[in-house]
Amino acid sequence: MTARLFGTNGIRGIVGRDMTADLAVRVGKSLGAFLGRGPIALARDTRLSGPMLARAAASGLMAVGCDVVDLGVVPTPAAQHYVAKVGGLKGAVVVTASHNPREYNGIKAIDALGLEMRRSDEEAVEAIYFENRFPETSWSEVGSFRSDDTAILRYLNAILSRVDVEAIRARGFRVVVDPGNGAGALTTPYLLRALGCTVLSLNGQPDGAFPGRAPEPVPEHLGDLVRMTKDAGADLGVAHDGDGDRMVAVDDRGRYVGGDRLLPLFAKVHARKAIVVPVDASMVLDDLLPGVAVHRTRVGDVFVGQELKRLGADFGGEPSGTWIFPRETLCPDGPLAAAILVGLVQSRGRPLSEMLDNLPEYPILREAHRFVADQRLAVKEALDRAFAGLDAEVTRVDGWRAAFPDGWFVVRLSGTEPKVRITAEARERVRAEELLEKGRALVHAAVSTAK
Ligand code: MG
Repeated sequence: MTARLFGTNGIRGIVGRDMTADLAVRVGKSLGAFLGRGPIALARDTRLSGPMLARAAASGLMAVGCDVVDLGVVPTPAAQHYVAKVGGLKGAVVVTASHNPREYNGIKAIDALGLEMRRSDEEAVEAIYFENRFPETSWSEVGSFRSDDTAILRYLNAILSRVDVEAIRARGFRVVVDPGNGAGALTTPYLLRALGCTVLSLNGQPDGAFPGRAPEPVPEHLGDLVRMTKDAGADLGVAHDGDGDRMVAVDDRGRYVGGDRLLPLFAKVHARKAIVVPVDASMVLDDLLPGVAVHRTRVGDVFVGQELKRLGADFGGEPSGTWIFPRETLCPDGPLAAAILVGLVQSRGRPLSEMLDNLPEYPILREAHRFVADQRLAVKEALDRAFAGLDAEVTRVDGWRAAFPDGWFVVRLSGTEPKVRITAEARERVRAEELLEKGRALVHAAVSTAK
């Protein structure tokens, strides 16, 4: 197997151990060599190691002759919007570890269209990196460095042009925003204020120590947002991950509204012919949207985006809280999703809780099992054999997905850890538990034969 640098979400790792200045310089050189001489945008989230890694990456880019346009701390979708709209840029380098804990950082490569670099291009960058194929530059060819602080303003104006600002303003919503001290702190509170909302910010100062909560917007981290939304009598609450490409919500009754619930809510409004979701998305979508093709792709927003583009589908999203509205952008965009959600509450004229209560909800169960790291291949082969003998419709888009008339389960190997994840869903809880148990039995058998 060729050595890999990029995972499903760019280059990720723990700062000081995997993510070092040396690595960032070499990645900068490799990306610059691949993208070619010309201006390349540089952006980062709020992580404490961001300035160190971003400057190192910039040095690498300049060393191979690229001009760097530094956007500073901005949400990933704002950097992508900048590349897509300003024009003339070869791409962007975003220093972020998205939803990962504070000790992590990473580097995400963005192409000239503002989209996350596709795998075949990443492979070309990896080849340059591992073979040290960096172009020579003379003193007069070294790249330049300048700053542009307009990315956020451009981005916010673009979002405001996509929603009915006057109608939303007239409602005077009260919204609690929890950007989790991440890059979304620089956009969403201002965006919602521009929409006439009374904004109550929680963890609203950009701070890479993430003092308020961990960056992943999951219920365990959003207790304060839930309480504050309820106590303030707010219409809703919204939260982002560290780089602001994810959005989850809290309803007016103080209930956490994660990706599993927002997915059918957004899909119902935006789906016409086809939507794209990952293999672990709820079957509520199939039941709720007769006549709409629900395409299931690999887990990861980059795969959802690529499939959306290929199919010309209407909407894409993931249970993790990434939302893609392809008429605006093929990138997951948390602040845009927050504005669209507020617009939805306005246009329907009903509280968010009521809209959610009118959507079906099936029990989805998730669990993970560890195995010994070097048994990965053996576990995979054992699972292949086990699923071949299963009396179900098995698909292999990502891991193994077994579908039954009344439910399904998915078994996936984690890309970064020696872990197997099982997700099961059915219309009835008893059946969902049964399917989870079926998946668990297969995994246990596979892990023990692999030993
Ligand atoms: Mg993210």
